[in-house]
Amino acid sequence: MTFALSITRNDNLTMFSNLKIGIIGGGQLGAMLIKYAIDFGLDVAVLDADPNAPCARYSSSFKLGNSLNYDDVVKFGKELDILTIEKEAVDVNALRYLRDKGVKVYPSPETIEIIQDKYLQKTHLRSFNIPVVTGWLVTDRKDLEQHVEKFPGILKKCTQGYDGKGVLKIQTVEEIKDVFEGPYVLEELVDIKKEISVIVSRNDSGLIECYDPVHMVFDKERMLLDFQICPADITEDQAIKVCAIAKQVAEAVDLVGIMAVEMFIATNGRIFVNELAPRPHNSGHHTIEAATTSQFEQQLRVILGLPMGSTKTTTPSVMMNIIEPVAHRKQAIMEALKTILCTSDVHLHWYGKKEGFEGRKMGHITVTDVVREEAISKSIMIKHLLKEGHE
Ligand code: ADP
Repeated sequence: MTFALSITRNDNLTMFSNLKIGIIGGGQLGAMLIKYAIDFGLDVAVLDADPNAPCARYSSSFKLGNSLNYDDVVKFGKELDILTIEKEAVDVNALRYLRDKGVKVYPSPETIEIIQDKYLQKTHLRSFNIPVVTGWLVTDRKDLEQHVEKFPGILKKCTQGYDGKGVLKIQTVEEIKDVFEGPYVLEELVDIKKEISVIVSRNDSGLIECYDPVHMVFDKERMLLDFQICPADITEDQAIKVCAIAKQVAEAVDLVGIMAVEMFIATNGRIFVNELAPRPHNSGHHTIEAATTSQFEQQLRVILGLPMGSTKTTTPSVMMNIIEPVAHRKQAIMEALKTILCTSDVHLHWYGKKEGFEGRKMGHITVTDVVREEAISKSIMIKHLLKEGHE
């Protein structure tokens, strides 16, 4: 399949006018990718099962279908030149079929397959000597009873967990009856000092670019992100190490595209890779306002075969998600936003989701400031205002 740039065409001066690009998944990450695709003059098709998905109003080729259904994915992808993802819950056999038919699939089905299963991900990374938390494969609740001597531990569903759903701290044998269905990975409990994410991009020549590490500050109760701060408050040595690990991971999974590499820095200083997302990621939202090239533009550059952009941090930033139920009291939130948006260098991204449920991400705010500590103070104030808006 050829898709040479057609800047000399008479009828249409759009650079990529002959390219058909598709995204599997129509959530906010896809919507933000589309915004950058518009800057590149691209039309993008989207596949999602929800007719009200955020992408629906941004794509003239929005198709309804289940990303985990082979036929839906093949039907969607077979007319395309390039296919990418904004979530990893995708039928990889359909992606393989499409690739065999000549569709360029980024990241590759093999990369996605490794990442879809937390146990496979762990064993794969370990085989490349990448530090991961020790974990055991556990098939079901009965099997879990054989592992009680390893408690307390962290129990994770092998597949399809996200945003802390499918992750549980388990301490006693009595808790087993209430846990979700397996198979699981049972992990050693890490005494975490900091949670770090590194966004890394790699093109199909194997070139790698790495963004500055971000510090993800979690609400431990709800296992949800509270703040994400860039640059992370870590030593230069730690920053070099986490970036080196992120690059190693990109090579180990043969990434072509963009990926978040989430890591733990333990209280004893050890670094572990926790999980991977081979697509634009929540922990890269700040790159829109606080890096030379956003993670979304970088994803497009890679899949279009263009040079990757600079990943330089342009300003310190703090990103916070706006999550249900905070988001649902529209009137109160509107009032809070009137105050929040008076603050300098505050950027609102509202996803326009029609319905919310507890824990659902409805939007995010990125705060920038030349002084990192100022950005943090502004963010704490904003968080309070959002909470007041809720009460
Ligand atoms: P998800 O895919 O749902 O985001 P994660 O694997 O990132 O799941 O786990 C969610 C959170 O649980 C992490 O951000 C971290 O705070 C905590 N966690 C995960 N694994 C461990 C572990 N082995 N030890 C201690 N805490 C953990």
